[in-house]
Amino acid sequence: MFDVAIIGCGPVGAFAANLLGKSGLSVLVVEKDAHPYPLPRAVHLDHEMMRLFQSAGVIDRVAPGMRDTEGHLHVGADHGVIRYMGTVGRPRPFSWSNDYFFYQPELEDHLRDALEVYSNVALRLGSAFEGLEQDAEGVTLTLTGGETARARYVIACDGSRSAVRKALGIALDDLDFEEPWLVVDAEVDGPVRFPDLWGVPEVADLQKLSVMMCDPRRPTTVVPGRGNHRRWEFMLLPGEDDQAMMEPQAVATLVEPYLAQVPHRIVRAATYRFHGLIAERWRLGGVFLAGDAAHQTPPFFGQGMCHGLRDIANLAWKLTLVIAGKAPDALLDSYQPERDPHVRAVISAAVNAGRYICVLDPDAAAERDSAMREAARDAEHGTAADLIPAIGAGIVALGTPGAGERFIQPRVGNRLLDDVTGGGWRLFTAVPTEGGDVTVIQLDQLKDGGAIGDWLKARGAEAVLVRPDHYVFGTGEGPELLAFRNLLIAGTKHHRDIAA
Ligand SMILES: Cc1cc2nc3c(=O)[nH]c(=O)nc-3n(C[C@H](O)[C@H](O)[C@H](O)COP(=O)(O)OP(=O)(O)OC[C@H]3O[C@@H](n4cnc5c(N)ncnc54)[C@H](O)[C@@H]3O)c2cc1C
Repeated sequence: MFDVAIIGCGPVGAFAANLLGKSGLSVLVVEKDAHPYPLPRAVHLDHEMMRLFQSAGVIDRVAPGMRDTEGHLHVGADHGVIRYMGTVGRPRPFSWSNDYFFYQPELEDHLRDALEVYSNVALRLGSAFEGLEQDAEGVTLTLTGGETARARYVIACDGSRSAVRKALGIALDDLDFEEPWLVVDAEVDGPVRFPDLWGVPEVADLQKLSVMMCDPRRPTTVVPGRGNHRRWEFMLLPGEDDQAMMEPQAVATLVEPYLAQVPHRIVRAATYRFHGLIAERWRLGGVFLAGDAAHQTPPFFGQGMCHGLRDIANLAWKLTLVIAGKAPDALLDSYQPERDPHVRAVISAAVNAGRYICVLDPDAAAERDSAMREAARDAEHGTAADLIPAIGAGIVALGTPGAGERFIQPRVGNRLLDDVTGGGWRLFTAVPTEGGDVTVIQLDQLKDGGAIGDWLKARGAEAVLVRPDHYVFGTGEGPELLAFRNLLIAGTKHHRDIAA
């Protein structure tokens, strides 16, 4: 019997296999196809993902394929800027650039190749999930050809059409957004051209930004990929036919304004329905949904895959504790309460952006433009990272300053914090403390230039306890934090008890 079976070896399943493999669990990965899906879908990820790749031990493989970038620019109907979410000159809390572009098939290759080092991970390619049965000890999977496999827990990472989700009868909550878009990828030898834009901040480099042209004549996103890869996403207008719009002549007409005189080769053109969907249940017995199987987002902030990797980071440490007998199964019930509101907040932001991006009426677009410029006039611009909320429920010391936020990762000399401290639970404190199974890092012995001390000072705390997924459990005094953490993990205390 495997500790965990993962259904689907897309980016989320492959990442899960690496993280769980590294923690020593016995893992079965079942993937119906022999090779990763060959065409790019995701092109953007954020700095938290780079940190998670560090945690999974794959950063050296994946980092060379990343191109750092400078955020998002939204342009109105009159080609003037209506929203700037640029990262130039902004803090880099995890010591990585805030945003990166990459090529999804390459990332998936790296994540699969990395599994070779784990003798405790069995990757079964060409084998599809067909059904499951659950009992008190675990889950029996039926695979291609009637083969069966047993695992204590199952993570369904089998994508948006998840056969596991369907087998469990789990419905999707529809956030009421569905728009057809044509996605075009090209290899481009030279800079992409833009029409004359105005209001572009001086520091902004259009070749390094994801530019959203909110032009009611044809809402369009222009995204710089890694190397010479470039992505366009064109909204299909009412009455346009998917097939006809994928024809080479139609595609050539759409990209022409951006690529006139620039040598290029179209790699693919495909239509997608962009929508916001979230599974009503993320756990049923020993089976968990993660990645696109659990939620789908319009890609306006490039967060779909990122959500999936966060799901796994959340679930992996909990599964590891439960399977080691150090926490009850009930700890796993905190997965959905922690992840669902988090994902819902970011998908809602993407859906809301989609509603103003997809405006096709010129008068409504002009009104939108002036309202957005007015709103942006006095406010300091945010970045896409500001869309990611703190965890607001579950295994966190709610009410303590910083609880549920993503903890910083300063440099320690010429290394990164997590590489110096190792993963797992970490208590950063100014006061000597006995940590038990938690790594205690005494601040006066950490050469981080005072970054964590400053972080604590800003929150008026003496210590911070950080979870293995790098979210802050809470701040305060070390011994109290450790004791509270133990009670929450053991399930002997809940927040409602504390409130009482
Ligand atoms: C146009 C577009 C642009 C996007 N841009 C971004 C972006 O910039 N940033 C971002 O973060 N995300 C983006 N996304 C979303 C991102 O591509 C997905 O969120 C991500 O691929 C989901 O990964 P996954 O592993 O959950 O599912 P998938 O990638 O769909 O992988 C599922 C895997 O499960 C396998 N499988 C399916 N059924 C079975 C079965 N029965 N048995 C065994 N195996 C099975 C499949 O073969 C596949 O390998 C974009 C998506 C699209 C379409």
